[in-house]
Amino acid sequence: MEKRRLAILGSTGSIGKQALDVVSQHSDLFQVELLSANNSAELLIEQAIKYDVNSVVICNEDRYKEVADALQPHGIKVFCGMESACELVCGDNIDMVLTALVGFCGLRPTIAAINAGKPIALANKETLVAGGSIVMELAREKQVPILPVDSEHSAIFQCLMGAAGNRISKIHLTASGGPFRTWTREQMAGATRSDALKHPQWNMGAKITIDSATMMNKGFEMIEARWLFDTKPSDIEIVVHPQSIIHSMVEFEDGAVIAQMGHPDMREPIQFALSFPERLSLNNRKLNFAELGSLTFEKPDFEKFPCLQLAFDAIAKGGNIPCAMNAANEAAVAAFLHDRISYFQIGEVVGKIMDSTPFLAKPTVEDILETNDESYVKAGELIASHSR
Ligand code: MG
Repeated sequence: MEKRRLAILGSTGSIGKQALDVVSQHSDLFQVELLSANNSAELLIEQAIKYDVNSVVICNEDRYKEVADALQPHGIKVFCGMESACELVCGDNIDMVLTALVGFCGLRPTIAAINAGKPIALANKETLVAGGSIVMELAREKQVPILPVDSEHSAIFQCLMGAAGNRISKIHLTASGGPFRTWTREQMAGATRSDALKHPQWNMGAKITIDSATMMNKGFEMIEARWLFDTKPSDIEIVVHPQSIIHSMVEFEDGAVIAQMGHPDMREPIQFALSFPERLSLNNRKLNFAELGSLTFEKPDFEKFPCLQLAFDAIAKGGNIPCAMNAANEAAVAAFLHDRISYFQIGEVVGKIMDSTPFLAKPTVEDILETNDESYVKAGELIASHSR
């Protein structure tokens, strides 16, 4: 494999940090050219120096001076704001863009990079939830590969490498079930922020951990799979698999099922997206099946996890509704993290915003941006009225 020059957007988050760990293990194969962070100036500075990058973007203007003062003596260029990230990912010095930002803000730089013909290692699922049809159509038109980083989608992608062009009849999307899998609805009604942040299998950022506790994350992943693999949502079956060893499966018309497995470790799908189609060594824990003993599976409980149903409703309606759902969820999760609303109010806010959003069947990028902003504001107002 020829050396790849990377842009890592969201380098100070969980995925970004693990991507840099992968880069450290294969510094002969990867060169980091561009890093971006939202707020975490100190870590961004440290990463930029360690990986000797060409440039960095700090999105929060207030942190610009601090980053510029620290990095300019090292000859590292410092920019500020998301607009700069959109421009810099298009540079001739970038071979591939890892989008590891959290939330809707990943959409614009992803579109910019696709327009510039840069292969995308996609870790920002909200991009496909909100703008799936636009992003995938653009990627097809520009013939840009979108390589999934999410563990389930990487699994499906890897299973499809064994499909030899045969049609798949079903995707079995596995879910750990999150921290509330064994809780009753009554217990969940009183769930606190710290209860929801205790994920049993994956160590991730706060936003996605709350999304896992509501299973909105699995709903998002269903939508993500629908777009990445051009599947009907009714052909995607969610199965709870608490051990998180099988990362997802595909089924063919003859009933044969292919699964992809490993211990839960995001570095594996991150590395495979960055090195695709080559497989590189990784210092992770390997599977010992005799030690594992058994793998178990359950049906998801749509009563306890209403957000899962909302995601199926949103993709069935289509158009700009999944975007409204995502925006309302971002606002509701932020409010839950600040103890302003209860666990079940997250789903209530999302449902209400979805119902009150003016429907657009074929939204443009501008429509999507507008739906996102309006839904976020409306969700904020609804939350304020709840917490008063
Ligand atoms: Mg996942």
